[in-house]
This record gives sequence, structure tokens and C-alpha cells, in this order.
Amino acid sequence: MNPQTPINNLPGIGSYYARKLKKLEVETVEDLIYHFPFRYDDFSKIFSISNVKQDEKLSIQGVLWQIKNLRTKKGKFITLATVADQSGTVEVIWFNQSYLTKNLKPGMQISLSGKATIESSKVKLISPSYEVIRTGTLKRKSNSEHSTLHTGRLVPIYPETEGLSSKWLRSKIAVILPLYVKTVTDFLPEKLIKKQQLKSLDWSLSKIHLPENYREVELARKRLAFDEIFLVQLMSIIRQKEWLEKMSAPKIKINKSRIITFTQNLPFTLTNAQQRAVSEITSDMKKGIPTNRLLEGDVGSGKTVVATHAALIACDNNFDTLFAAPTEILAFQHQKTLETLLKPLSVKVGIWTGSKKQKGDITCGTHALLTTFKTKRQVGLVIVDEQHRFGVAQRAKLFLDQSSKLKPHLLTMTATPIPRTLALTLYGDLNLSILDEMPKGRQKISTFIVPNNKRQDAHIFIEKEIKRGRQAFIITPFVEPSESITTVKAATEEFDKLKEKFSTQIKLGLLHGKLKTKEKESTINKFKANKINLLVATPVVEVGIDVPNATIMLIESADRFGLAQLHQLRGRVGRGKHKSYCFLFTDSKAESSLKRLKSMEKIHVGFELAEIDLKMRGAGEIFGLRQSGFENFKVADFSDRKTISAAQIEAKTLINSDPNLSKRPELKERISKLQEQYSQPN
Ligand code: ADP
Ligand code: MG
Repeated sequence: MNPQTPINNLPGIGSYYARKLKKLEVETVEDLIYHFPFRYDDFSKIFSISNVKQDEKLSIQGVLWQIKNLRTKKGKFITLATVADQSGTVEVIWFNQSYLTKNLKPGMQISLSGKATIESSKVKLISPSYEVIRTGTLKRKSNSEHSTLHTGRLVPIYPETEGLSSKWLRSKIAVILPLYVKTVTDFLPEKLIKKQQLKSLDWSLSKIHLPENYREVELARKRLAFDEIFLVQLMSIIRQKEWLEKMSAPKIKINKSRIITFTQNLPFTLTNAQQRAVSEITSDMKKGIPTNRLLEGDVGSGKTVVATHAALIACDNNFDTLFAAPTEILAFQHQKTLETLLKPLSVKVGIWTGSKKQKGDITCGTHALLTTFKTKRQVGLVIVDEQHRFGVAQRAKLFLDQSSKLKPHLLTMTATPIPRTLALTLYGDLNLSILDEMPKGRQKISTFIVPNNKRQDAHIFIEKEIKRGRQAFIITPFVEPSESITTVKAATEEFDKLKEKFSTQIKLGLLHGKLKTKEKESTINKFKANKINLLVATPVVEVGIDVPNATIMLIESADRFGLAQLHQLRGRVGRGKHKSYCFLFTDSKAESSLKRLKSMEKIHVGFELAEIDLKMRGAGEIFGLRQSGFENFKVADFSDRKTISAAQIEAKTLINSDPNLSKRPELKERISKLQEQYSQPN
């Protein structure tokens, strides 16, 4: 069976279901096979009817004695049936499924799974799953050979979409799976499989869908998780190799006296971590190979000045430097910051966004930089701030679009505290610099979870602070991960509500991504000048604003954010000399949410918070947004350090012995498919 066969070519699927499957990102046979269950209903215990206990999740197999439809007074249908095995009978009730009497006929051997109720010593099953085992004979199947799919076993439950139930998916997968696994070749070397004690690919694919027991699920997942991590590792290593072989970058010389002027004029001394990062970046730039370095540092750790340092060096060598930020607001802020920092060196800092285009020696801007910026000079350095928000695809695009033979150095920055092992798994081709030290004198921000009945108190507190001259942020509820019309509408409504709540002396401003550039700029400037006291902002738009007089960060529906994101939001305050606060509003009563939020009260280090999310919610949540490449992982568990490092070692070993994968065409094919996935625009 060709794994790439489009799904609508299969019997019983067609274009109607193909459209629905596309919503689940299933377009080919292989996609369907790799659409894994996310859990299983355990209906593996098959009971004799006489042994059934109240509320037990179980399966029963027996003969259908009778089945009939009744109509209720309200015109609804109830289907009543009696099923018997050798030990007794059970009453079965279904609602609004009158068609059942067409499929199920007396005399059939059927299997039922559900939760049992016992009423006056009669066993009842309400709305159980059902399937026909045999149409007529009374011969009973043994439990071990599974003739059932939807009952009487570990029943796989899949990610669903409207009109596509787990039952439907199960039926289709069960037909295709045996054909698929018969033809699939295991792309891992046998030696590796033995050494890592993995199961074969065909076995694992069969068992993740239709396991006999949980031990099999565990072994199947172990193999498939290894595959995911191993393939990405391998891709990274190959990318890195190609990079080093093919690319050359502008060689850069350091003008020492300019650097000294720069550091001496800074309003502070660089931390040790900043100095280390600067020297790592400069030593990269001196080589003729393009740097590809990720600068990771908690909010407020001072990444901008490190980047400015690198930008100055590139600009002193007569190269253009581009400094890209995810939002226009941030781009403007960077322009101002760089202008101030570089004033003593007479460097012109430009701006390049959708609405304003002005070249400088260094040019700050948005995505527009990566698409519309044209220059006669060589681009020597590209800096991308908050790189996870640009996505892997754009990262790759940066290089494709450069027509020049020399590729620019690339410095990406993130405040997302990606644990090192994780960063290396995802971005194995990156060098990593970590700012693990905060500038001196940073204060702890007192953080409180605020339940519904304390909202009023929090608002009164904010009013008091504002009357003392301070400022506050209010982050509106998280509606969608992107800045959509819905998000903006919710923010505007919240803003109107808040205007009513606060005294008229308090000046409120609203900031969201759909505002015109001029309006955004003017709102930010007013907030910076304290002409706006309270800034209401959407969750997306605020990242990176630097207003030292702001001391309160209030976050609505805090439970919907990842901890690292909350930590980044919190980092907007506590930047000046005044005591600062963070209020986390939540309606959630779920114990696990509250426990997660509680860690915000106690922990003030981004890395530690990210680790908690990694354990409690999985890797995707650390990043809040998709696009980070994590959506390609279905089974891999990123807190499983053992598998990650095993996969790393195996990938290196394999490439050393077979650099072009010429002995492993199946593996080569998987890798090129993965490369395609990673370079597709989102
Ligand atoms: P982030 O890493 O979150 O981008 P920024 O670069 O915006 O952080 O820096 C946060 C604040 O800290 C800025 O106001 C910056 O001027 C200041 N800062 C940066 N480095 C230092 C330092 N070594 N000592 C004191 N303040 C610093
Ligand atoms: Mg920043």
C-alpha cells in the first residue's frame, strides 16, 4: 500500500470525509496511520452477567433475545433490548437511536461495553457501545482473539472533529492498518533497535491503535516517541553539516575603540552573562561561516543590549543589520532603545514596518524587514527578537530569500525559557547562549491569585497605586492564540467595562494589534509619559513593552496561559525602583490549574516555571503558540531526558557511519519529508 495515497481514494472515504479528515491534518494513508489515539477506554474485562457489579466499566457478550422501539410522549424514541449469556440476562436501553432495530436482530451474538447499573437486582446497561460478533450462531469466541473493535477491549479514543467520531476513525483504521504494516519497511537499523530495546515499526503501529493491554501501548509509544526525536535530531545534524559545507558569511573585524566607547557610555555595567554572550557572538562573527545562534534569557535579563553590541560590530564593518521584532510596537521601541544606546557612536537607526520605511545603518522593523527590505549593501547580520513567534518556516525563509552568495549571520532571541536539552532537540543546528543572570537590584514581584470575590479589592488597590503616581497593565481574557477580530472585540468590551469601574480621574488606554500604527504609537507614548495611567491590552500585543513606572500587572483568565507566558507578562513590571505586583485573575476551580498558578506566587525564575509546565501540560504549552515546531510531535515526551539523549547519540553514530544515508533510503525519505514540513509556511 502506498503510504502517500490520498485518503479520498480509499473505499468508503471519498471527498466528503476527506474534507473532514483534513481538519485533523490527515490527507494521506500514512497520515491516517499516524493519527494516534490519545487515550483508551478500558473495556477489556468481559463479564458473565451474573458477576456484574454496580458502576463497573465492563463488556458483556451474549445473544440478543429481543429488541424494540418505544415512543415517548414527547415523540422521542427509546430502544429496549434484552441480551443473555449463560449466566443471566441484561436489559439494554438506548435513546434516540431507533435505527438500531434495523442493524441488530434477535439471535445475533453481540458485544456491549459501558457502565453497569443494578436496579432491584436487575442488570442494566444504558447507552452502551455495541457491535455484532456473529449473526446467528451461539458459539462464543475466546477473549484473547480479538474479534471486536469498539467493545470488549482497550478501545482507542482519537482526536475527533465534527462529524468524525472515534468509532468512524477506528473502523477505517482497522481496515487499512493491516495492509499498511505489511508493506512498511522499518527505517531504523536493526542494531539500533536491539540496543535501544525498541519494538519494530509494524508492531508498534499496530499496537498503538489496537493493543491487547497497556503494556503493549507503552512499548509502542516508546518506539514511536524514539522515532520522532531521532528523526528531528538527524535532520538537524544534516542541516548543520550542509550549512557548514556550503555557506559562507561576511568575515567581520572588531574595532576595539568603538566597542570601548559603546560599553563606557552604557548607563550600566554588563552582567557576566551578558559579557559571555557578547564574546560568544563576536567570535562566531569573526569566522567565515554564518552564525546561527539563539540567545535565551529571562524577561529583563538584558538581551537587547547584547544584540545592539553585535549590531554595532556589523555596522562598523559596513554591513546592513536588520533587527526584526514580532510586533510594530516592539519594533518602534527597539529603534528608540538602539538610538539611545548608539548615540555616542553616531549610528543611524532606521525603522521598517508595513507603514513606515526608513533605512538606517541598523534597521529595526517587523516581518516587513524579511519580505520587503531591499539594499545595495550586503546584509551582514539579522537579529530576530522573540524568535518563537516567527516560526521555523520564516527562519528558513530568511536565508532562501537572500540572493547574495554570502549569507548573513543570524542571531535569534527568546525569553521563552526552553530547557537546554529541549532546545538542542528542536534546534540541534543552533548554538546557544544563555543569559542566566539578572542585572543587579531587580526586585521580586509580589504575585497573588485573585478569585472572583476579591476582584473589587484588587481594583481598589490599583486605584490607590495610580493615585500615588504609579501605572498599571490589565491584560484582557485570552480568547484565541492569534490577534483576531474576536480577540479585539473581547478586549474592547473589557475596556468599556473597566472604564465604568474606575473613577473618572483615572485615564485608561486600549492597545490591540488591529489599531492603526499611529494610534498604537500614540497610546504607547502616552503610557510612557504617564498620560495614560492604566493600559488595557490584549494578551498578544503587549510583549516587550518597557515602562519602568508601571508597577501592577493584572492578568484576566490567567489559567489559560502557560506559566512561561505569565512570567513574561509579569516581567513588564518591576523594572523601576517601585515595589511591583502581579494579580492573576481566574474563575477556574480546577485543582490542577490552581496548583499551577500557585507556583507563580512562589517561583520567580522563568526556567523553573517552564519545567513545571513541561511536566504538567507538555511542551506545546511552554510556547503558548504553535509554530514552534512542536506540533510535529505526537508521542514524544520532552521531560523524558533519557530518550532524548539516546536519540541524540544514535543519530550522531548513524551519520558518522553513513554520512549521506545512502544505505538507508527509507530513512532518507523520512528526513526529506520532515524537512519539507519544517520549511512549509504556516
Ligand atoms: P529583555 O531581555 O527582556 O529583552 P531588555 O533588554 O529589555 O530585556 O532589558 C531590560 C531592562 O534592563 C532595560 O531597561 C535595560 O536597559 C536594562 N538592563 C540591561 N542590561 C542591564 C545591566 N547589565 N544592568 C542594569 N540594567 C540593565
Ligand atoms: Mg526584549
